[in-house]
Amino acid sequence: MASVEIEDIRKQLPNWVKASVPYASSGKVASYIPELSKAPYDALGITLLNTNGEFASAGSCEMNFTMQSISKVFTLVLALMDNGEEEVFSKVGMEPTGDNFNSMLKLELVRPGIPFNPLINAGAITVSSLIHGSSQEEKSERILHFFKELAGNDNLKCDTDVFRSELDTGHLNRSIAYFLKGNGVLSGNVEEVLDIYFRHCSIVVNCADLARMSLVLACDGTDPLTGKVLIPRRFVQIAKTFMTTCGMYNASGEFAIQVGLPAKSGVSGGVLALVPGRYGIGVVGPALNDKGNSQAGVYLLETLSREVNWSMF
Ligand code: GLN
Repeated sequence: MASVEIEDIRKQLPNWVKASVPYASSGKVASYIPELSKAPYDALGITLLNTNGEFASAGSCEMNFTMQSISKVFTLVLALMDNGEEEVFSKVGMEPTGDNFNSMLKLELVRPGIPFNPLINAGAITVSSLIHGSSQEEKSERILHFFKELAGNDNLKCDTDVFRSELDTGHLNRSIAYFLKGNGVLSGNVEEVLDIYFRHCSIVVNCADLARMSLVLACDGTDPLTGKVLIPRRFVQIAKTFMTTCGMYNASGEFAIQVGLPAKSGVSGGVLALVPGRYGIGVVGPALNDKGNSQAGVYLLETLSREVNWSMF
């Protein structure tokens, strides 16, 4: 029998989604990656998964979308597993920026010129360069394999249209990467690193995939549904801390106050959030607010957190 809490959530969820959808109209679907602009602006979906494997879903939860910046949490974890903490944090900092996710400003202004954190583009591109593998293909393959394990879904794959679209138009990311190369932060071939980065941003998921991946983080690295340890606890702790301080870009402070859960968003409108020890949550709502977070998705998470009293703080 399903637990009382998830039964209650199941009953309310369609109403909360319905009340959140109108907020999408004041947001905008990302178009700087042209392929992303095809997403329906007023779609909104959510899936929650608890440690007993019970789901609650509503709205467009079966819609497919690319992970975009949400993938950065998990490439960080893989880079930590490959290299250890000391090596990773010699190349990437631990502080929020207060700037946009694709800003280069502080790379030049603040010494020693390493990205402020692994969840902004500069940091995530650096992290991509740290993934182990004997070739670019093997590195991308290892990332995809890791994501499949976390999602418990062997069918995850890269959306090559979105990947190509970003490869063709990712001029800002390309300039960040060359700047990092010039600073001696990024080693290896810049175009190969960008290929790895754009590819993991383009991995396709739905809300259930995100919920399962975040449930592993909620359970300190062990998948509660299989009992398998997928991530060392310390690295989950690091990932959750970054999600709390930097996961919603320069709206992370407001999100911590209004929702109070570790979370990570992406420009496709996806948001991954978790309730420690209890729930993994996947949300999608393609229309973004001016900080680059899902407009209706954030409103929905605010509603959930308030109604179920989930803030960690
Ligand atoms: N692939 C996107 C980019 O690099 C990811 C950014 C995001 O989701 N905020 O611009």
